[in-house]
Amino acid sequence: MYNLHTHSLLSDGSLLCSELAVRYLAAGYKVIAITDHVDYSNIDLVIPAILKFTHNWPKDSQIQVLPGVELTHLPLGQFASMVKYCRKKGIKIIVGHGETTAEPVFQGTNRAALEADIDILAHPGHISDDDVKLAKSRGIFLEITSRHGHDATNSLVVKKALKFGAKLILSHDSHEPEDIITPAQLKRVGLKAGLTAAQVATIDKDIAKFLKKF
Ligand SMILES: [Zn+2]
Ligand SMILES: [Zn+2]
Repeated sequence: MYNLHTHSLLSDGSLLCSELAVRYLAAGYKVIAITDHVDYSNIDLVIPAILKFTHNWPKDSQIQVLPGVELTHLPLGQFASMVKYCRKKGIKIIVGHGETTAEPVFQGTNRAALEADIDILAHPGHISDDDVKLAKSRGIFLEITSRHGHDATNSLVVKKALKFGAKLILSHDSHEPEDIITPAQLKRVGLKAGLTAAQVATIDKDIAKFLKKF
């Protein structure tokens, strides 16, 4: 009952952070991360806004909201310094916008993101064996997504992650209200990508363990 990849109107999503949280709560979630797209043009606008929002979100709310970012379309050499900057500012969940087949992305983005201290490599497209092994050794989650277009390589990512023992995460990458599916629907995305129900349960356990530190 988590989704650690969402967008608000702080980047290209359509919802205010509060409405995003309320809609996820209504859909049955306990934890979300707001991970708006950032590069050097907007990082100092987005990070303070997300942190102000999450710091003021009630601690006793039934849904926990974690501050995050998605490092998107960065020139490869910027990943390491951007990640360091985000951590220093207090960002908890760092998503790397991987080499999806649905958009042009710099070749080598998967590798550059995995070599930085990110938490999740989103929609990694036709990820190489070496990059899957790197994700495993660094404990970085590879994303299986419900997002149309980015989901084209879900089965390949599942197959390689299982082969090399890398950790997976299921996420929405939501931008609009209709992208917010229920936990049961999200589970079906995993099953459709080739996971068994037991493997989905293992993913949930891994994420629960990861989230304990927040
Ligand atoms: Zn993305
Ligand atoms: Zn995204």
